[in-house]
Amino acid sequence: MNTETVNAQNLIDGEWVPAANGDTATSINPSDQSSVGTFAAGGREDARAAIRAAADAFERPEWAQNPRLRQMVMLRWADRLERRTEFLAQLLTRENGKVIAQSRGEIAGAISEIRYYAGLARHIPGHVLEAEPGVFSTMLKEPAGVAGIIVPWNAPAVLLIRSITPALAAGCTTVVKPAPQTALLNAELLRDLHEAEGLPKGVLNVVAETGHAVAQELVASPDVSVISFTGSNETGKRIMMDAAATMKKLSLELGGKSCCLVFEDADIQQVAPLIAHAAVIISGQQCTAARRVLVHASRFAEMKAALKNALEGLQIGSGTVAGMHMGPLIDETSMTKVNARIEQALDQCDEVILRGGRLGGDLSSGYFLAPTLVAHRDTGAFFCQEEIFGPFVVLESFDNEKEAVQRANHTDYGLSASVWTNDGARALRVARALRNGTVWINDHNKLYAEAETGGYRRSGVGRLHGYEALNDFVEIKHIYQKAGVV
Ligand code: NAD
Repeated sequence: MNTETVNAQNLIDGEWVPAANGDTATSINPSDQSSVGTFAAGGREDARAAIRAAADAFERPEWAQNPRLRQMVMLRWADRLERRTEFLAQLLTRENGKVIAQSRGEIAGAISEIRYYAGLARHIPGHVLEAEPGVFSTMLKEPAGVAGIIVPWNAPAVLLIRSITPALAAGCTTVVKPAPQTALLNAELLRDLHEAEGLPKGVLNVVAETGHAVAQELVASPDVSVISFTGSNETGKRIMMDAAATMKKLSLELGGKSCCLVFEDADIQQVAPLIAHAAVIISGQQCTAARRVLVHASRFAEMKAALKNALEGLQIGSGTVAGMHMGPLIDETSMTKVNARIEQALDQCDEVILRGGRLGGDLSSGYFLAPTLVAHRDTGAFFCQEEIFGPFVVLESFDNEKEAVQRANHTDYGLSASVWTNDGARALRVARALRNGTVWINDHNKLYAEAETGGYRRSGVGRLHGYEALNDFVEIKHIYQKAGVV
């Protein structure tokens, strides 16, 4: 394992600089509370300087009007990252705690996504039409301006990249605000973009912080045209209110409470371990993690035993140790909050199938929680509705397709769900009826650059990944010309 200390400063107008007030903060490894390194902890003054640099860079045509340069810079960035894949994966596991196999997959996915948007940078066409004889309308897609990118800690590589790469491809200039828990990984990923040949000064700015002043400055600033935010609903709501005064474009990727609908023809022995892994991905700290398992009543007992068995059999430990399935939660605050909600659920549920809780011994200095599984019938219970961001699963039963869909749709969220059956027509019928941005058939948590991701209802606004993500970062201009006829 690489244990070298990593330090980061803020990047403002092409220079790495300390925070204006000189503050630094420590990034903590959640597996054992050791220090991973320190980062410059910025504030409003740093945010304003970064926004000014990005706004100035946007005024110059060298980036906003040069898609071929944008492509080349992004391809060079991806190549540079590829040479450091293992270092970045280790750093991701040290800062976030997730198991190393997940970190390797996340870094590889992030690099692949940069290349995807590098290609799209050269394909953002508008259209032209002749509305009347000799009257031409050109619809030009232009970059929206400065994009503020606010990143969470749970998948800090892929969630940074899926926001910033469509922004860069579209020709926006950027200010990135990492989550404090994973500021070092974000700085290291962006160091390679900063150093990629051809990137104009001011196109990329990065300001980390321990509080919220930098993010709030980005949201309130009249010089920021787009906010691309991934995080909790509470913060998303706050951002929507704070952005109202400046009417900026908002891309909000928020929470979820994903259901897995398992029908009577499914192979339970095969499906249960897949769902168990889908539930504990990043220790249950993934927006799309499996949280409610809805199984046909005729297979309930079998699923209960198989899911318990699969969750009990998971290896929990430091993410750097080979063969682990689950690492710690991100920090003490999160672990305490999640554990308290699970304790309340244990008191109120119909049946406790597997009691998880804190782990002792060698793992007592980390923020580890073993998975908990309960059974419950009332979908109105707080633990069937609330996103509990950790390893907690509710098992429910249904008698028919209609009830399964009604149960799954009884939620304010609408991020993702999965359907498990060998009946193709049923799979499509149920997928269509579910009010979610993503529905997987016989799989879960499959997310990648080519496929749009986003939420129905309170799970968000807009789409990231795929071609549609570019729409969050462009404006359409109508240029009218009365050319006349010959
Ligand atoms: P969070 O909302 O606490 O933080 C996200 C980011 O917002 C961080 O950079 C944080 O520093 C910043 N922030 C916090 N308070 C702020 C404020 N008042 N104003 C402006 N910015 C502020 O979320 P989190 O705990 O880091 O992430 C977990 C949440 O993210 C979960 O709800 C999860 O479902 C959601 N998420 C959604 C997706 C998706 O694709 N829909 C993906 C990953 C995570």
